[in-house]
Amino acid sequence: MGVIIDKEKCNSCGLCVKLCPGDLEALDPKTRKAFIWDNDDCWNCLVCVKHCPTQAITLKLPNAITKHDATLMPKMTDDEIDWTLIDPDGKVDTFKIPRKTVR
Ligand code: SF4
Ligand code: SF4
Repeated sequence: MGVIIDKEKCNSCGLCVKLCPGDLEALDPKTRKAFIWDNDDCWNCLVCVKHCPTQAITLKLPNAITKHDATLMPKMTDDEIDWTLIDPDGKVDTFKIPRKTVR
Protein backbone atom coordinates (compact mmCIF):
# COMPACT_ATOMS: atom_id res chain seq x y z
CA MET A 1 0.00 0.00 0.00
CA GLY A 2 0.99 3.61 -0.38
CA VAL A 3 3.14 5.46 -2.85
CA ILE A 4 6.73 5.48 -4.05
CA ILE A 5 8.22 8.91 -4.79
CA ASP A 6 11.13 9.06 -7.21
CA LYS A 7 13.26 11.90 -5.85
CA GLU A 8 15.21 12.16 -9.10
CA LYS A 9 12.01 12.98 -10.97
CA CYS A 10 10.50 15.26 -8.31
CA ASN A 11 10.75 18.94 -9.32
CA SER A 12 9.69 20.22 -5.88
CA CYS A 13 6.47 21.81 -7.18
CA GLY A 14 4.57 20.93 -4.00
CA LEU A 15 1.38 19.94 -5.80
CA CYS A 16 1.15 16.56 -4.06
CA VAL A 17 1.51 18.32 -0.70
CA LYS A 18 -1.44 20.58 -1.52
CA LEU A 19 -3.66 17.85 -2.95
CA CYS A 20 -3.24 14.89 -0.59
CA PRO A 21 -6.52 14.57 1.33
CA GLY A 22 -4.72 12.90 4.22
CA ASP A 23 -2.03 15.61 4.48
CA LEU A 24 0.52 12.82 4.19
CA GLU A 25 3.09 14.35 1.86
CA ALA A 26 5.63 17.09 2.47
CA LEU A 27 8.76 18.61 0.97
CA ASP A 28 12.00 17.81 2.73
CA PRO A 29 13.27 21.17 4.09
CA LYS A 30 16.83 20.40 2.99
CA THR A 31 16.44 18.68 -0.38
CA ARG A 32 13.04 20.23 -1.33
CA LYS A 33 12.02 16.78 -2.58
CA ALA A 34 8.64 15.26 -1.74
CA PHE A 35 8.26 12.43 0.73
CA ILE A 36 5.37 10.65 2.45
CA TRP A 37 5.19 10.65 6.23
CA ASP A 38 3.62 7.20 6.61
CA ASN A 39 2.53 4.91 3.79
CA ASP A 40 0.33 2.97 6.22
CA ASP A 41 -1.98 6.00 6.32
CA CYS A 42 -2.24 6.35 2.52
CA TRP A 43 -5.78 5.95 1.22
CA ASN A 44 -4.60 4.86 -2.24
CA CYS A 45 -6.76 7.63 -3.67
CA LEU A 46 -4.30 8.26 -6.56
CA VAL A 47 -4.74 12.05 -6.43
CA CYS A 48 -1.02 12.74 -6.07
CA VAL A 49 -0.09 10.02 -8.57
CA LYS A 50 -2.50 11.37 -11.15
CA HIS A 51 -1.52 15.03 -10.86
CA CYS A 52 2.25 14.91 -10.34
CA PRO A 53 3.57 16.83 -13.38
CA THR A 54 6.73 14.74 -13.67
CA GLN A 55 5.28 11.25 -13.04
CA ALA A 56 7.47 11.01 -9.96
CA ILE A 57 4.86 9.18 -7.88
CA THR A 58 3.85 5.54 -8.33
CA LEU A 59 1.05 3.75 -6.49
CA LYS A 60 1.92 0.49 -4.75
CA LEU A 61 -1.17 -1.62 -5.32
CA PRO A 62 -2.76 -3.17 -2.23
CA ASN A 63 -1.87 -6.85 -1.78
CA ALA A 64 -5.56 -7.65 -1.59
CA ILE A 65 -6.02 -6.90 -5.28
CA THR A 66 -2.72 -7.91 -6.86
CA LYS A 67 0.69 -9.47 -6.27
CA HIS A 68 3.01 -7.99 -3.67
CA ASP A 69 4.86 -4.87 -4.88
CA ALA A 70 2.93 -4.38 -8.12
CA THR A 71 2.78 -0.71 -9.07
CA LEU A 72 0.42 1.42 -11.12
CA MET A 73 1.12 4.77 -12.75
CA PRO A 74 -1.10 6.97 -14.90
CA LYS A 75 0.06 9.46 -17.49
CA MET A 76 -2.53 12.11 -18.20
CA THR A 77 -3.14 13.39 -21.71
CA ASP A 78 -5.95 15.65 -22.93
CA ASP A 79 -8.04 12.74 -24.19
CA GLU A 80 -7.05 9.69 -22.18
CA ILE A 81 -5.20 8.27 -19.23
CA ASP A 82 -2.35 5.94 -20.16
CA TRP A 83 -1.97 3.44 -17.33
CA THR A 84 1.18 1.38 -16.75
CA LEU A 85 0.95 -1.66 -14.48
CA ILE A 86 4.23 -3.32 -13.47
CA ASP A 87 4.15 -6.60 -11.58
CA PRO A 88 6.92 -7.78 -9.22
CA ASP A 89 8.46 -9.92 -12.00
CA GLY A 90 8.89 -6.85 -14.19
CA LYS A 91 6.01 -7.70 -16.52
CA VAL A 92 4.56 -4.47 -17.91
CA ASP A 93 0.95 -4.03 -18.99
CA THR A 94 -0.36 -0.80 -20.44
CA PHE A 95 -3.91 0.24 -21.11
CA LYS A 96 -5.65 3.46 -22.10
CA ILE A 97 -8.91 4.80 -20.75
CA PRO A 98 -10.67 7.72 -22.47
CA ARG A 99 -11.07 10.73 -20.18
CA LYS A 100 -14.58 11.77 -19.22
CA THR A 101 -13.63 15.43 -19.06
CA VAL A 102 -16.40 17.76 -20.27
CA ARG A 103 -15.08 20.59 -22.42
S1 SF4 B 1 3.77 16.62 -7.33
FE1 SF4 B 1 5.48 15.38 -8.08
S2 SF4 B 1 7.03 16.85 -8.73
FE2 SF4 B 1 5.57 17.97 -7.43
S3 SF4 B 1 6.46 17.90 -5.35
FE3 SF4 B 1 5.07 16.14 -5.55
S4 SF4 B 1 6.40 14.42 -6.23
FE4 SF4 B 1 7.51 16.32 -6.60
S1 SF4 C 1 -2.47 8.29 -2.93
FE1 SF4 C 1 -3.88 9.82 -2.01
S2 SF4 C 1 -3.74 9.48 0.21
FE2 SF4 C 1 -2.00 8.43 -0.73
S3 SF4 C 1 -0.33 9.94 -0.58
FE3 SF4 C 1 -1.30 10.21 -2.61
S4 SF4 C 1 -2.85 11.80 -2.34
FE4 SF4 C 1 -2.25 11.08 -0.30
